[in-house]
Amino acid sequence: MASVDTAALVDWIHRFRDAVTAKRDWLTELDSAIGDADHGANMARGMDAVVAKLEAGTPATVDELLKGVGMTLVSSVGGASGPLYGTLFLRMGMAAGPVTELDATALAASLRAGLDGIVARGKAEAGDKTMFDAMAPAVDALDAAVARGADLAAATVAAAQAAAVGRDATLPLVARKGRASYLGERSAGHLDPGSASTTLLFETLAQATAE
Ligand code: ADP
Ligand code: MG
Ligand code: MG
Repeated sequence: MASVDTAALVDWIHRFRDAVTAKRDWLTELDSAIGDADHGANMARGMDAVVAKLEAGTPATVDELLKGVGMTLVSSVGGASGPLYGTLFLRMGMAAGPVTELDATALAASLRAGLDGIVARGKAEAGDKTMFDAMAPAVDALDAAVARGADLAAATVAAAQAAAVGRDATLPLVARKGRASYLGERSAGHLDPGSASTTLLFETLAQATAE
């Protein structure tokens, strides 16, 4: 597809809900090693609430859709991940504006704004062992793919691959943000749970924009 319309965004949201639900135990296992063992439950609960709200009615424009997703996540997830993913979607919606579809350039700009919102909220930097470490490389890869003229499907696959590399690179890091930072050196040797869910976010985006 050349652009993502609201139906494709809803498909992405459903796929992400299904992915965090299928991987709930794994996300929780990752969080039990360096956090409080609730990341799987937090993401599944939040995305269930998002899907329930969309089933009650889908907004006609990209900004209303994405802002609604963000507000639902903020209000239904108590952990750090709720406000952070909530901010991602809220800022994506604000950047997108009242349009009915996003081409690859607009999608990349929207995700960039979302990432900037996460940074404004959580102050994460590269190597802090957070979701930023998967999301920033994914958004960079999306921008680079769009700049070299790749189509949407190829660009989102590149972003998903970069997210996975970023996730895996969190393994040896010592956490400097969030709950895991309380462990200091003992946080090394474990994947960051938020970088794992963020990789699912980009993998499902690639699925929803395939062909
Ligand atoms: P909580 O830590 O409140 O239990 P979750 O377990 O749902 O919340 O989410 C934890 C994830 O949130 C971490 O693995 C990390 O990726 C992310 N995170 C925590 N603090 C920050 C921050 N300041 N900036 C970016 N991401 C963060
Ligand atoms: Mg937790
Ligand atoms: Mg918690």
